[in-house]
Amino acid sequence: MDIAEILEKNRLEREDIVRLLATQGAEMEQLFRKALDVKLSRLDNKVHLRGLIELSNVCRKSCLYCGVRRDNDKVERYMLTEDEVVECARLAHQLNYGSVAIQSGERNDPEFVAMITCLIHRIKEIDNGSLGITLSLGEQSEETYRQWFEAGAHRYLLRIESSDEELYYRIHPRNERHDFHRRLDCIDALLALGYQTGTGVMVGLPFQTLDILAGDLLFFREKDVAMVGMGPYISHPDTPLYQYADQIPAADDRMNLTLKMIAILRLMMPEINMVAATANQTIDPLGREKAIRAGANVIMPNLTPNEYREDYLIYPDKACVGDKPEECFSCLDIRMRAIGHEILYKEWGDSVAFTKKM
Ligand code: SAM
Ligand code: SF4
Repeated sequence: MDIAEILEKNRLEREDIVRLLATQGAEMEQLFRKALDVKLSRLDNKVHLRGLIELSNVCRKSCLYCGVRRDNDKVERYMLTEDEVVECARLAHQLNYGSVAIQSGERNDPEFVAMITCLIHRIKEIDNGSLGITLSLGEQSEETYRQWFEAGAHRYLLRIESSDEELYYRIHPRNERHDFHRRLDCIDALLALGYQTGTGVMVGLPFQTLDILAGDLLFFREKDVAMVGMGPYISHPDTPLYQYADQIPAADDRMNLTLKMIAILRLMMPEINMVAATANQTIDPLGREKAIRAGANVIMPNLTPNEYREDYLIYPDKACVGDKPEECFSCLDIRMRAIGHEILYKEWGDSVAFTKKM
């Protein structure tokens, strides 16, 4: 079928998605233009910010791709103090960011759970709850998710990493700490509790096919999530998956594949929030801008104190590690204007799809 015909369809099916994922050159550009048109007509040219706070690199898991996995003993472990996190949130507020996102390696001991609850309360005290709070703290019990939701967190990001069970177990150890079905249950629990729930995958993993990627997009639609974060996989030399580094697509191809995933999903779910992940910028200096032009509408500038950033290297050569938060602020504003987009300050930037559903 002609690409123009597929782009006009009301509902994309698996074979359409695979066909779109395989586009190159002029056809691929046609896809990007269509996705940008859809985004501009449904969500305007607005970009939402989430000030990213990388709370800790201490993690109980050993995902085979991640630089801060528990079994990587080259990593110096750190944990921000409560006061340091609250300072980051205050800085977000001063910079007029409407929301913060707290991300961390996975811990689920009672001290950690209680600390997060306390942090949510303290961040909510800043200017009468003016900051929105997104959490990305891995798999937790339903009770913990509920406790954090009741404390005031309203968005949660938990990438499925791959919705294909076989691929999931090629990129995670097969044991009780890395259970595909438990991860699915966590996503369902977050949705049921009323979080604006986000999920996502890495793109360009070894063993990943276009059919598997199409399955990921269909999974997001089936779950009717409010947010999606997708970024290119970047192989880390101190991880087991690095042995397949020569089997993944070249950086340009991984970038384009990620952009195609974003663009197709914008056609399938026009009003969800989609993150232009930092990993995009790591493999291409203009990666975040390209992701925004392909259909993403959220950016997560890093607010983590600079002295800790070198230790949160989930993949090598991470972008912006040396930048000061104030520098990110003006840099992003200029970058977004240059591509005809406008950052929305002082707003939570909730997912339109979610708000309508509620
Ligand atoms: N620990 C939490 C979790 O796994 O959900 C949140 C933090 S984790 C570092 C955030 C995301 O980083 C993961 O969902 C994964 O997709 C991404 N990530 C980890 N290693 C990566 C790599 N080598 N390349 C690209 N993204 C990676
Ligand atoms: Fe831990 Fe998240 Fe990295 Fe997995 S991806 S090792 S859970 S920080």
